[in-house]
Amino acid sequence: MPPVDNTMEKLVSLAKRRGFVFQSSEIYGGLGSVWDYGPLGVELKKNIKERWWRSLVHEREDIEGLDAAILMHPKVWEASGHVSGFTDPLIDCKQCKNRFRADDPRIKGTPGEPSGQCPVCGNKGTLTAPRLFNLMFKTVMGPVEEAAAVVYLRPETAQGIYVNYLNVLQSSRQKIPFGIAQIGKAFRNEITPGNFTFRTREFEQMEMQFFVKPGTDREWFEFWRHERMRWIQGLGVRPEKLRFHQHTKEELAHYAKDAYDIEYEFPFGWQEFEGIHNRTDFDLSRHQEYSGKKLEYLDTGTNERFIPYVVETSAGADRTTLVLLADAYREDEVAGEKRVVLGLHPALAPLKAAVFPLVNKDGMPELARRVFDDLRKHYNVFYDDGGSIGRRYRRQDEAGTPFGITIDGQTLQDQTVTVRDRDTLQQVRLAGDRLVEYLAERLRG
Ligand code: ATP
Repeated sequence: MPPVDNTMEKLVSLAKRRGFVFQSSEIYGGLGSVWDYGPLGVELKKNIKERWWRSLVHEREDIEGLDAAILMHPKVWEASGHVSGFTDPLIDCKQCKNRFRADDPRIKGTPGEPSGQCPVCGNKGTLTAPRLFNLMFKTVMGPVEEAAAVVYLRPETAQGIYVNYLNVLQSSRQKIPFGIAQIGKAFRNEITPGNFTFRTREFEQMEMQFFVKPGTDREWFEFWRHERMRWIQGLGVRPEKLRFHQHTKEELAHYAKDAYDIEYEFPFGWQEFEGIHNRTDFDLSRHQEYSGKKLEYLDTGTNERFIPYVVETSAGADRTTLVLLADAYREDEVAGEKRVVLGLHPALAPLKAAVFPLVNKDGMPELARRVFDDLRKHYNVFYDDGGSIGRRYRRQDEAGTPFGITIDGQTLQDQTVTVRDRDTLQQVRLAGDRLVEYLAERLRG
C-alpha cells in the first residue's frame, strides 16, 4: 500500500496552532466549510492580494481597479445565467436526509430506483433521482419578506465588473484593450465542500476582466494564461507542482469559448486554483439585452462599434493562499532535531523578522526592544522572549518568518546582532544600525 499522505492534517493543525486559519464559530461546533483567518493568516492572505493588485493594477497602465458591492440588482443574475444555470444535480436520501452530488463515487446503484443505495445509512431505494439545486445564497432586502425583495449574495465578482464597464471606461479614459480588476467576497452554497479552505461557502476572488476587440481575443487569451502562470511561479511555487488543464468541450461553461485552469498538485491531488476564460461577448451582450442599455464600444480611430470580448483571469484568494501554504510546508532536521518550516517567499511571509533577547537579563531585553521598535516602523515584526532560543527559532520557522534576530552578550559591547536565515540556517553578525538595510535587500521580491 502507498504511504498515507497526511500532509493536509499536519497543515490544518499547524494553521490552527500558529494562528493562520481557524474554523468559523468553533466554540459552537463550527459552521460547515467556513473558515476564519487568524493573526498570521490575515497577513499572508493580505500580502498575496497586494501582490496581485500591484502586478495588475499598479504596474500596468491598461488595468483599473474596482470594488463593487456584494449585493446587486437581481436581474444581473438572470442576465448572467446564474438564476437558471448555476446549478448542481443533487440527490437526497429520504431516510437519513443526507444530500449528495449526483457524481458522488460512493453512491451504489441508480438513485431514484430501488437499486440506489445510500452511502451514509446504507439503505436501498431511499435515494431521490438527481434534482437541480441552485448554488446561490438568497437573502431578503428591506423590511418586507416578499419575493420582489429577494437578492443574492454574488457567486462571483465578475458581474460587478461587467455592469460597471462603461462607468470605468468613461471615467478613466481607457481605450480597448483594457482591463478591470477586483478583489472581493463571493458566496456559493457548495454541497460537497471540504479539503480545508479549498472549497468553502464564503470565499474571496481576485478577478480581472480584460476587454478586447473581437478577433484579438485568442491572442489576449494566450497572453493572459501565460502571464498568470508566470505570476504564481514568481511567488516561489515549485514549477513541477503547477500545470495547465484545458477545458474539454463538455467542461466549458455556457459563456466560454476557451478555458484553462491553472492547477496545483495538492496533497489531495491536482486541483484548479485559477481559471483563465475567454468569455466572448456573452456577458456584455446579455446585460445589454436585459438592461436595455447600450454597452457597445466606439472605436474612435475606425468609427467601428462593437461589444468587446472578455478574457477573464479568475483566482481564488483563499485557494491561492492554500497553494502557498501547501507548497511552503516542509519538515527537515537540524542538528538531529526535527523541525517544521513554512518556506514562504519572504515578500509573502506574515512576519518578516522576529527579535529575541538571548537571555532576559544584563540589559539584553531593553536593547532587543529598541531593535524591535526600530524595525516595526518598517516591517511587521515580532518580539519573543519566551523559552529557550532554540524553541523560539522553531516557533518562527513554523510561522514562516524568514529572519531571526538575536541580541546577545556581544551586542552589549559592540552593538552587533546575529541574523539567522530560516532556510539556510546560517547566522551572520552585523551592526544593529545596518539591520533595516539588510532586511530591505532580502525582502524585496
Ligand atoms: P470548482 O470547479 O472548483 O468549483 P469553478 O470552476 O466553479 O471551481 P470558477 O467559477 O472558475 O471556479 O471560480 C474561479 C476561482 O474561484 C477558482 O479557481 C477558485 O480558486 C475560486 N473558487 C471557486 N469556488 C470556490 C469555493 N467554493 N471555495 C474557494 N474558492 C473557490
